[in-house]
Amino acid sequence: MKKQINIHAVIPLSAVNGPGARLVVFFQGCARGCDGCFNPETHSFDKKDLYSAQEVFERFLTPGAEGITVSGGEPFMQPEGLSDLLREARGRGLSTVVYTGFTIEELQRDEVRKGCLSLIDVLIDGPYEEGRKETTLLARGSTNQRIHLLTGRYGADEFYMPGRVEILISKDGVITETGFGKVTPKAVNE
Ligand code: SF4
Repeated sequence: MKKQINIHAVIPLSAVNGPGARLVVFFQGCARGCDGCFNPETHSFDKKDLYSAQEVFERFLTPGAEGITVSGGEPFMQPEGLSDLLREARGRGLSTVVYTGFTIEELQRDEVRKGCLSLIDVLIDGPYEEGRKETTLLARGSTNQRIHLLTGRYGADEFYMPGRVEILISKDGVITETGFGKVTPKAVNE
C-alpha cells in the first residue's frame, strides 16, 4: 500500500526552484526548529492535504516540467512518502532536487532515508542559519547549506539564480512569492 503524503502546497510549474521548469512540492511537518525559518506554517504535523505519490503527478504535473523539487517542511520526516514520490518521478523520467534541514551524514544513518538518496539528483542539505543568509545567489537559504550533486544530471552552476523570484496569486487573491532572490523565499498556499 502506497503512503499518503501530508503536503503543505504545490506549485505545478516554477522556474525559480532549481534548474529548468519544475513541479515543486512542499511537505507539511518539520520539527527541526531552525532559528529564523522562512516557512513556519509548514511546521505543524496536522493533516493538510493528503496525496499518494501517483496522485501528486496525476493532479499537478504540467507538460514541460523537467523535474520535481521537494521542499518543506522537512521531506525526510515522511521518508516512505518521499521515497514513493522520488521513485514515481524517476519512473516518469523527471529529475529530482530535494531540500532538507538534515545533513547528508545524518540521513545516511537511517536505512529508509539513505534509500531516498539513491533517487535524488541534487540534495541541498543542512539547517537554515539566520546569521548566514545566502549571499552568493545560489538556490539555498543560507551559506552553510551544501549542494550535493549526487548524479551527473546537473552542475552547481545551474543553481545560480541571481534575484529570481516568482509572484503567485491564488484563486482567493492571496499574493505570495517563491524562489531565491534578494527577498526571503516563501512557499505558496494554493
Ligand atoms: S528544516 Fe526547513 S522548514 Fe524545518 S525549521 Fe529548518 S528551515 Fe524551517
